[in-house]
Amino acid sequence: MRRWNGWGDDSVHYPVTPETMAFLEKKLGPGKPPKDISLSEAVAGVPVSRLPEHPLISTDALERLRHSAGQSLADWINLRGGTVPAFPDGVAFPATEREVRAVLRYAQDTEARVIPYGGGTSVVGHLSAGSDNDRRPALTVDMGRINSLLELDEANHLATFEAGVRGPALEKALRVMGFTLGHYPQSHEYSTLGGWVATRSAGQFSLGYGRIERLFAGGMVETPVDSLPLPVLPASAAGPDLREIVLGSEGRLGIITRAAVRVKPLPEVESFHAAFFPGLEQGVAAVRDLARSSLPLAMLRLSLPEETDNILTQAGNSPALKLLKGWLNIQGVKEGRCMLLYGAVGGRKQVRRALSGAREIIGQRRGVSVGAGPGRKWQKQRFLVPYLRNTLWEAGYAVDTLETAVTWSRVPATVQAVESALRNGLRDIDEKVYVFTHLSHVYTHGSSIYTTYLFRVADHPAETMRRWKQLKTRASETIVSYGGTISHQHGVGVDHRAYLEAEKDDLGMEMLRSICRTMDPAGMMNPGKLL
Ligand SMILES: Cc1cc2nc3c(=O)[nH]c(=O)nc-3n(C[C@H](O)[C@H](O)[C@H](O)COP(=O)(O)OP(=O)(O)OC[C@H]3O[C@@H](n4cnc5c(N)ncnc54)[C@H](O)[C@@H]3O)c2cc1C
Repeated sequence: MRRWNGWGDDSVHYPVTPETMAFLEKKLGPGKPPKDISLSEAVAGVPVSRLPEHPLISTDALERLRHSAGQSLADWINLRGGTVPAFPDGVAFPATEREVRAVLRYAQDTEARVIPYGGGTSVVGHLSAGSDNDRRPALTVDMGRINSLLELDEANHLATFEAGVRGPALEKALRVMGFTLGHYPQSHEYSTLGGWVATRSAGQFSLGYGRIERLFAGGMVETPVDSLPLPVLPASAAGPDLREIVLGSEGRLGIITRAAVRVKPLPEVESFHAAFFPGLEQGVAAVRDLARSSLPLAMLRLSLPEETDNILTQAGNSPALKLLKGWLNIQGVKEGRCMLLYGAVGGRKQVRRALSGAREIIGQRRGVSVGAGPGRKWQKQRFLVPYLRNTLWEAGYAVDTLETAVTWSRVPATVQAVESALRNGLRDIDEKVYVFTHLSHVYTHGSSIYTTYLFRVADHPAETMRRWKQLKTRASETIVSYGGTISHQHGVGVDHRAYLEAEKDDLGMEMLRSICRTMDPAGMMNPGKLL
């Protein structure tokens, strides 16, 4: 069963080693397990629905609770503290495009707001039913039943799925036919194809397969005014590409019901390796060179010094690890080192070429290759790591992440400024914040910057929320002042809304608003999110 107030399946736990706990206590002080409300208390807090009955719509309190939030830290604080600002009045479970249209008509008739819901993994407040002072009832539309593979067009390397398909089911359907999409956000277990498109998602192998923008070939959107088909064409110069308007639309234009994606034959080999650099400067230079090398790599992830330190601490104190640290010391890779994970997928020859080319560039930047051990471990744990958030919360530590992207020359200064804004963000109350960063999506002209921060959960949810808001505001303002995007992959939702204008400017914002007015004249689609 999926956790109602945390990440993932409630039978899965991610234990923390005593070394990690001691490390955190040293960084932040001892954590105090918070007094979270129980599921029955949370259900009792759901008010009576304002929506009339409909066969496709549930007004059950538990269902409405489960669909009242996503996975942002603010969502967690509200769910666990009993402070969810608003609940959907109903949850629709359409199973066909025709039923989606019926649900939209019902929403029009009842003057309800509509919140499309994919896998519920949003981390920026996309799914909240509280929308400023909007008094209209809220109807969440769960796409989980619209999840089939409609067509695998092997000749043209295209697959068409219904948009509610989750990551594992999508990959399974393709793999039995010898294909893959290769899109693996860390939320893969629950997030959906429609959600990926609606948020412009980036998977862990974006370097090899591309972000969802490159994979999304066309589909269908049901809007309040009409259906919008997006034809699949190899390329087109026929005016602006309407797919680009749907990508990142965050449920504001309509419901994506179907998506065609570019697929690839299953790779023969997947191989992930690690290397260490003496410091940030050499590590960043190496990933920049690798990004520009046109080597067929699928993945690069550079952990900056604090994150590297954290990874090595979490790895425990085995003799093998001691040996590795000793050997790195001899190679001149000591305190301040950065760990790089790099990988290639494809045919045997292609993978061999990519890895040996990568090792050459790594060596030129004074990197020390340490083989496939850490890469294999990462591969095994890559979807398990989010479970650590549950364990740490229960120990009294809140975890949040934020991300941006900037051009290469701005990377070091932006990392430093964002980390410092967070690290000093709770000085006023003498609380420490533990911050670390990695670069995991790289381009010829720049990189994403992904920062994780931890702080202690307070005695009262309102104070934990105040701390989070203060940190989030300081980091977001810093990102904008350093010319970074407010989101490289998580989207805008509510949490980043105030910063969108800095990127789009007045005219751009008006263009976006006018598109929303055209597709959704009554403003019923996920109001308050994005814009
Ligand atoms: C632990 C964790 C790790 C994550 N890792 C990554 C990562 O590596 N890369 C990344 O890109 N993101 C990541 N995310 C963020 C999140 O998973 C993505 O934004 C994802 O694309 C959301 O998909 P979803 O199906 O869960 O959508 P939801 O969270 O349900 O919805 C997100 C938004 O999309 C809209 N939407 C959803 N489905 C549809 C549809 N069919 N039609 C129209 N609108 C729709 C919703 O209205 C909402 O505005 C992570 C989140 C978590 C919790």
